[in-house]
Amino acid sequence: MKTDVSNRFIWFKGEILNVNDAKINVLAPTAQFGLNVFEGIPCYWNDEKKQLYAFRLHDHYERLLKSARLLQLDCPYTEEDMKKALIDVVIANEYSENLSVRQTLFVDGFGSWGSEGPVDMFVAPIPKGKTGSEYNKKGLNCCVTSWTRINDNSLSPRIKCGANYINSRMGQREAIRNGYDTCIFLNEAGKVSEGPGSCFFMVKNDVLVTPPLTDSVLESITRDTVIKLAERIGMKIIERSINRTELYVCDEAFLCGSAMEITPVLSVDRYVINRGEVGRITNALHKEYLVATVSGTQEWNTPIY
Ligand code: PMP
Repeated sequence: MKTDVSNRFIWFKGEILNVNDAKINVLAPTAQFGLNVFEGIPCYWNDEKKQLYAFRLHDHYERLLKSARLLQLDCPYTEEDMKKALIDVVIANEYSENLSVRQTLFVDGFGSWGSEGPVDMFVAPIPKGKTGSEYNKKGLNCCVTSWTRINDNSLSPRIKCGANYINSRMGQREAIRNGYDTCIFLNEAGKVSEGPGSCFFMVKNDVLVTPPLTDSVLESITRDTVIKLAERIGMKIIERSINRTELYVCDEAFLCGSAMEITPVLSVDRYVINRGEVGRITNALHKEYLVATVSGTQEWNTPIY
């Protein structure tokens, strides 16, 4: 496995370079104001087929272009260009393990936060090893953060841009300071929104419940995958606003995202969920998720090699 991230190739402005040679001007709006839009695209290694599969690639590019459009950034690349850049850089690194590929459109040059461009791109694969994270198995102890989630009328959570992650950072740092693994945000209306880098689901009486996309939630691809997988296994799913106290008395809960997959939540504000054990439905959905990502048999899987 090639886990030395400080000495890998990245795709940068049309070239494949050693990451140490990919330089951005310190005054560029991406560096100063977080003026960039990006995706973390998961790729799964299938050892039997000796193949790496990018997961829901088209959906990631669609969201990336939507984020760029909302910030009035003109993307100089087509979806085909973006896909080719991803494939080329993965092949250049000869990766045969799971990856999260950071594909970022950024505002370069000497402009300010209002500038239109120039817009360019980098594609940086981040190796993840062959198995999921420890937290997937162990689960998370969460708090409800005292910070409010950004909202559609100020800094829209629908836009996956660098600057939005400062709100995520405030919640996450507070959680860590106070001895939790991560946090859950409430939105301006006081309803549950999402985690700092993930969406939230709970199980109540065998029904899967998640906040609607209008409750200050990123249009998460994993959230959509979970809903589709839950439908496949015959579960009932409701998208509705969730109150804080519902977190404390739900039957199961999990956070989900391209990086954290489906990670169980074992407690919220020290209220223990499901006796602090990973729930049956959470487990079943995570199994389905792993098959969907790694099998190579779904329309969601794009082979890289
Ligand atoms: N919410 C936020 C704030 C996120 O950063 C992420 C990670 N991209 C998610 C949800 C999950 O989105 P996805 O499933 O598309 O990775």
